[in-house]
Amino acid sequence: QQPLLTVTDLRKYFPIRGGVLGRTVAHVRAVDGVSFTVRKGETLGIVGESGCGKSTVARLLMRLVDPDAGEQVFDGEAVGEQGGISVAQMRRQVQMVFQDSASSLNPRMPVQNSIAFGPVAFGARRADAVAMARELLTKVGLNPVLFGGRYPHELSGGQKQRINIARALALKPRMIILDEAVSALDKSVEAQVLNLLQALKRELNLTYVFISHDLGVVRWISDRVMVMYLGEVVEIGPADAIYTGPKHPYTRALLASRPALDPDQRREEAPVSGDPPNPVNPPSGCRFHTRCPHAEPVCSARAPSLGDATGFGHLAACHMQDAGSGHTAASVLQ
Ligand code: SF4
Ligand code: MG
Repeated sequence: QQPLLTVTDLRKYFPIRGGVLGRTVAHVRAVDGVSFTVRKGETLGIVGESGCGKSTVARLLMRLVDPDAGEQVFDGEAVGEQGGISVAQMRRQVQMVFQDSASSLNPRMPVQNSIAFGPVAFGARRADAVAMARELLTKVGLNPVLFGGRYPHELSGGQKQRINIARALALKPRMIILDEAVSALDKSVEAQVLNLLQALKRELNLTYVFISHDLGVVRWISDRVMVMYLGEVVEIGPADAIYTGPKHPYTRALLASRPALDPDQRREEAPVSGDPPNPVNPPSGCRFHTRCPHAEPVCSARAPSLGDATGFGHLAACHMQDAGSGHTAASVLQ
C-alpha cells in the first residue's frame, strides 16, 4: 500500500517562561525527532503515558501548532513547502476528533448546523450543506428527524461523539486523527462508537491515526502501533507483533500495567511504576533508563536508535532489545 502521510524528524519544544522579564528559561521537549508513515487505508495507533507527546504529534500533523523542525508529506506532496501543498489544502483532507465531545460543538447551534458549518465555510450552499448534514446523521446512526434540530446539551456523550464524527466527515477527509476520541465514553457506548468508526473507515476508504492511553482499544482498532516515551518513538510495528512480542522494555512494562484477566497469572515483566521524568530535562542516552529494569551503563551514555521508522517493519529503540525477550507480554494480555 502507498503511504498517505509521512513525517520525518518532527520536533516541537514548548518554551517555559520565567523571571520578571518573562524570558524563555527552558523548553519542554514535547516531540523530539519523531518519524513515521501512515499507509492509505490503515489505522496507526499511538500509545504512551500522558505527557509522552502523542497529542502534540496530532496537533503538529494538523498544524494546530507549528513544528520547530520536520517534514510532512501528505499523499506525495510536501506540506507547506514550495512545490507542495499548502497547510490549508492539507487540512481539508485531514480532520480531527477530540475526547471532549461537548466543548467542540457550539452549544447554541442545532447539531445539523454544526455539521453543515464546515462545508458552508468552504463555500457550499446552506441548503445543500444541511441536506448533507442530515445524510451524515444517518451514516453515524442518528435519525435526522429526531436529532437534526437538537442542541448538544440534549444529547448523550456517545451521541455527541457521533455528531463530531459526522462533522469531521462533512469535509470529505481522507484521514481522521482521533485523539482519545472514545476515552470519555462508557464501555458499551465506546464499543458502539468503535464499531461505527470501523464501518465508516471501510465504507469511505478512510485512514486513521488513533491516539489513546487504552492499550486494549488500540489493539482492537489498529493495524500498526507506535509507542511513545518522553517525546520519542520507542517502538513501532504491526499491532499483533507489538502486543504478542514487544521488543522494548517500556512497551513490555506498559503492557504489564494492564489489569490481567486472571489475577493469579504470573507477571514476567514489572509494570511501569512512578511518573515519567521531566521532559524539560530528559535523561541522557535512552530516556527510559531511569525506569528500565534492563538498563546497562551504555543506556545512559548513548541514545539507542530506532532505525528507519518510515518503513513498515517492527522496530524498537533499545540497546538490549533481546534482554528478557523470553518475557513477552502475551501472558498478561487480556
Ligand atoms: Fe532499557 Fe537500555 Fe533498552 Fe533503554 S536502551 S530500554 S535503558 S535496556
Ligand atoms: Mg493527550
